[in-house]
Amino acid sequence: AVPLVVAVSTSLSARNGLLIRNRTSFERSRDINAIIFDKTGTLTEGKFGVTDIVPLSREYHENDVLKYAASLESYSEHPIAKGVVNSAKETFDVEDFKSIPGKGIQGKINTKNVEVVSPGYLKELNIDIPNEKIDKLLSEGKTIVFVIIDRELKGALALADIIREESKEAIKEFKDMGIQCMMITGDRKEVAEWVSKEIGLDKYYAEVLPQEKAEKVREIQAEGLVVAMTGDGINDAPALAQADVGIAIGAGTDVAIEVADIVLVRSNPLDAVYIIKLAKSTYNKMF
Ligand code: ADP
Ligand code: MG
Repeated sequence: AVPLVVAVSTSLSARNGLLIRNRTSFERSRDINAIIFDKTGTLTEGKFGVTDIVPLSREYHENDVLKYAASLESYSEHPIAKGVVNSAKETFDVEDFKSIPGKGIQGKINTKNVEVVSPGYLKELNIDIPNEKIDKLLSEGKTIVFVIIDRELKGALALADIIREESKEAIKEFKDMGIQCMMITGDRKEVAEWVSKEIGLDKYYAEVLPQEKAEKVREIQAEGLVVAMTGDGINDAPALAQADVGIAIGAGTDVAIEVADIVLVRSNPLDAVYIIKLAKSTYNKMF
């Protein structure tokens, strides 16, 4: 039988937009001393808008750079993709679309090989970042993607996301409970730094590839910390499973929701604070 206090908490949490899928993890969540957040879609709204278009060759103008990028992005589920597609009026047909997890996407447009990629992947391709304007956008903490056509850099798009209103307050509440607050992101160090300062995180890990996120969680656990992880994406699922308490954002992908112990139906980081407090009060009443 389910103890009465737990049953009450479960219905309390349901009424408050929290779904407890694993009761053992819910109990464990009163002991956490570190919480790791994914950035995009978790601490931020994951709603990107294109702020700048930078052509980097003579033959492709602003509109062309955007149109090529949007054509590929219309096949991607990434929050960046929605931002790019929303900014473009028209697209080309694409063949052989493929995503390169944590790095970008590629495909064929009118027999040309087109790629839209991260700054880190550009480095891997040994292409230099060529331009003062790009340096400036990078230093502003914007998310940048590069458009490569037939192995040559043709342009860049800068995008900005919005930090969730409730993120800052949630971090403060966690810190007040003595819980360390960290962030893992696939995005650049400068973007991570900016978000981190803005909301008062203790620590961040940037440019982490999707398959490395779970390993990072394991490393933090190996330091003796009991870890909660909060995320929304397909690429967060292994890390959510690895954490002592996996918390999925309700508006996130099905894969993340399936492996999570707890689901935040309203996508509000303050609900993660509530769940920890609820666990503490529930199990302190019992024992
Ligand atoms: P996060 O951890 O913030 O959710 P990801 O690991 O999903 O980030 O992505 C890391 C980086 O890979 C992005 O910042 C971007 O540079 C690049 N990237 C991923 N998907 C796409 C895409 N569809 N289009 C362009 N770039 C992408
Ligand atoms: Mg994410």
